Amino acid sequence: MDAPLNFSDGVGFVRGEYVPIADAAIPMTDWGFLRSDATYDVVTVWDGAFFRLEAHLDRFVRSCARWRLDPHLDRGQITEILSRCVRLSGLRSSYVEMICTRGKPPWGSRDPRLAVNQFYAFAVPFIWLANAEQRENGLHVMVSDVQRIPPSSVDPSAKNYHWNDLTMGLLGALDAGADSVLLVDGVGNVVEGPGFNVFCVIDGAVVTPAEGMLEGVSRRTVIEMAGSLGLPVQVRALPAHQLRCAHEVFLSTSGGGVLPVTKVDQSVIGNGRPGPVTQLLVQTYWAWHTDPAYSQPIDYCA
Ligand SMILES: *Cc1c(COP(=O)(O)O)cnc(C)c1O
Repeated sequence: MDAPLNFSDGVGFVRGEYVPIADAAIPMTDWGFLRSDATYDVVTVWDGAFFRLEAHLDRFVRSCARWRLDPHLDRGQITEILSRCVRLSGLRSSYVEMICTRGKPPWGSRDPRLAVNQFYAFAVPFIWLANAEQRENGLHVMVSDVQRIPPSSVDPSAKNYHWNDLTMGLLGALDAGADSVLLVDGVGNVVEGPGFNVFCVIDGAVVTPAEGMLEGVSRRTVIEMAGSLGLPVQVRALPAHQLRCAHEVFLSTSGGGVLPVTKVDQSVIGNGRPGPVTQLLVQTYWAWHTDPAYSQPIDYCA
């Protein structure tokens, strides 16, 4: 008899099959691999429920359209596949990724229009962008001199795998002893880091960059939370020197929500502890996970 499949480390959806994550592989000839020609989105499951699934699906549909990719599935079908990945894994908190790749054109052709686009998905245990110690004490981030790829080259508002700038920046920051990195635009404004947006608090106002970055669902959640808490919000260019002098700094990402930053380059932020606005937003972020407006329970028995 075959050994039972081990789904508890995660589940991948590949070419119509659900497989243990360790066996989830794409063909080497898929342009998703050969050209980074793909788009994706990440939604999280917390306490057995998707958080803001509709917002992630909206963005995934928009990203696909932007890159002229077609997953050949509607939102209901995508939701069913993602739910089934989670259900098979049994995970109550999970990092769930949906991906659409170019696929491959017929042999000998280099015409992307002839490629059959492919849809992949996986659910793995929840991935935190910051560990427990970093969430408690705050991260040390460095502002890199690596410039984020300009919007006129690759539209940063549609998710993509053009990450070499982010990865090289991250390697530089890690080598220098920091925890993560922020990239700048052509005129020295900070834009974003590898998989997260950035915020700071200046004179009581919550400030975040306006352009040159992916518009995170978590970023939107922070802006909405600030609104509901009566905190003023400024969406505008954010020069690196203002970040270093801010009263508070934090990151937003599906990989853990609101994450405090207590050091930027060599500057200690505030008193070196996560600030009061950051802490309030962390609490509110997790409280919103139980709001039925944003949370969609998964039926683990279906
Ligand atoms: C996904 C992503 C983010 C954060 O988006 P969330 O929806 O909040 O997780 C920020 N920047 C980049 C480059 C990303 O890919």
